[in-house]
Amino acid sequence: MPAKILIVEDEPSIADNLIYVLKNESFAVEWLSLGQQAIDLAAQQQLDLIVLDVGLPDISGFEVCKQIRKFSDVPILFLTARGDEIDRVVGLEIGGDDYVVKPFSPREVTARIKVIVRRNRLEQTPADNTPEPVQPGCLFQLNNDKRQIKYQNNLLDLTFYEYGILALLIEHPERVFSREQLMQAVWNTPEDSYDRAVDTHIKTIRAKIRTVNPHDNSLVTHRGIGYSLNVKGHTIES
Ligand code: CA
Repeated sequence: MPAKILIVEDEPSIADNLIYVLKNESFAVEWLSLGQQAIDLAAQQQLDLIVLDVGLPDISGFEVCKQIRKFSDVPILFLTARGDEIDRVVGLEIGGDDYVVKPFSPREVTARIKVIVRRNRLEQTPADNTPEPVQPGCLFQLNNDKRQIKYQNNLLDLTFYEYGILALLIEHPERVFSREQLMQAVWNTPEDSYDRAVDTHIKTIRAKIRTVNPHDNSLVTHRGIGYSLNVKGHTIES
């Protein structure tokens, strides 16, 4: 099954260029020009990614993202115009996965889309139940001075918030933190953020860990409560 991409963009020339390149890369592509249409389609269909223009004629792309996030985790890549009051943090905190500024090269956007789709598929694949091979050494090594975390001896390439969340969980293994607690501890201005931001970062941390070990289940979701780190049978250094 080819990955299905929805493009939400009201400028046909921009949409056409993207559609052309994405189809060449064997993606299945749908194109809509209104935000409300995109929300409706995302509610009905399983999509692999949405490319979402911020400046749409009916509803802003940010609002579309917020609405979609009420029922779907589909990755969202924002398209923003140069000079838009785009705040990268706002875009990502309301649940976007990445953004590109116009004018952009369709090939570059396609490359980003491939990365996000691959990462999301890894994350969606449930870890299987075969016992993990016992790895020598530590599961996690935390170096607070360098703001670095190693997983099974592999340095994880973490963003500011991803590092903050994972470091806190490592320092308190097995303890369940609510989204609010994680946000209070890690964000500089938690009041400006959305709960969804924590979920988005947990998703990307998990994907990065699973690029090292696809069987990893250490980052545990407690539905309706929050998150914890399960390190049973392993050691950690912090
Ligand atoms: Ca537009």
